[in-house]
Amino acid sequence: MKIVGTTGRDDIARAYIAEMRPGMLVEFCEAVEPPIPRSRKWVLIVSTMFGCPVGCQMCDAGGQYGGNLSADEILSQIDFLIARRFPERRIDVSKFKIQFARMGEPALNRAVIDVLRRLPERYDAPGLMPSVSSVAPSAGARFFEELADVKQDLYRGGRFQLQFSIHTTDKALRDRLIPVDKWDLAEIAAYGGAFYRTGDRKITLNFALAEGMPLESQVLLRHFDPERFLLKITPLNPTYRAVEHKLTSRIDPEASEGKIALIEDLETAGYEVLLSIGEPEENLIGSNCGQHVLRHLREQEPLSGAYTYSVASD
Ligand code: SF4
Repeated sequence: MKIVGTTGRDDIARAYIAEMRPGMLVEFCEAVEPPIPRSRKWVLIVSTMFGCPVGCQMCDAGGQYGGNLSADEILSQIDFLIARRFPERRIDVSKFKIQFARMGEPALNRAVIDVLRRLPERYDAPGLMPSVSSVAPSAGARFFEELADVKQDLYRGGRFQLQFSIHTTDKALRDRLIPVDKWDLAEIAAYGGAFYRTGDRKITLNFALAEGMPLESQVLLRHFDPERFLLKITPLNPTYRAVEHKLTSRIDPEASEGKIALIEDLETAGYEVLLSIGEPEENLIGSNCGQHVLRHLREQEPLSGAYTYSVASD
């Protein structure tokens, strides 16, 4: 792997562009959450595919799918980030998250399971917490079976995070946003209900909320037990794809009234709700969820509120 570019700042987030195979680029990131020091929380976000075949309407990483990364290629991104800050491979960070969430749908790449099995022996990292976020593609059924096993074997008792990105409770709109054959809410609930064991972290249902996308507590209650599932609501980050599909964020990071009413309704239904606004600067860096610096470099036009940092070549 050869680093060919980087952008961002070390005190918030930094993205790296790397040539993984001749002519084939990936990108990966590291982030902290100011004012929490890196010694308490450090997040790595790595790619599992060259591009992504799913093509979610809000995601700049979608399209241009060029195949899956191998386990060694995924690990090489993690190795690089660790070597920069912890060359001894002793990662003394209370919460050391590794998210398989930059480019690619992890459930469509079984090498992710191999990586999850190898992480604990590869690094001395007592705070290690892998995080798998998925849109629940039907073709990932075998992956999910193996994921439940690896969690039980190596990460039980709250050391693993599983997230399903759903974005709306309306089936037709969800199909439009996430154009892949995928589990319906009942199937996600059945899998998640069995995946969760006492002591585990609750399974996250993520909604990057766009205007016009319903999030109905009564629909959720039909399927998801608030004892096993929590809700995470995020703004829709600025991406080229969101603009193309005329999607605008229902959550305004600056205003609070609408979001409080929505959250109150979900909390009254019994759910734990996280409103995750994140660092606005991450939008400008292009390191936020759904963003993709390589897409920005391909575009000729700037994008309002995003990707303003220059990319330095290495
Ligand atoms: S959000 Fe995930 S699954 Fe959807 S296109 Fe982006 S990388 Fe692929």
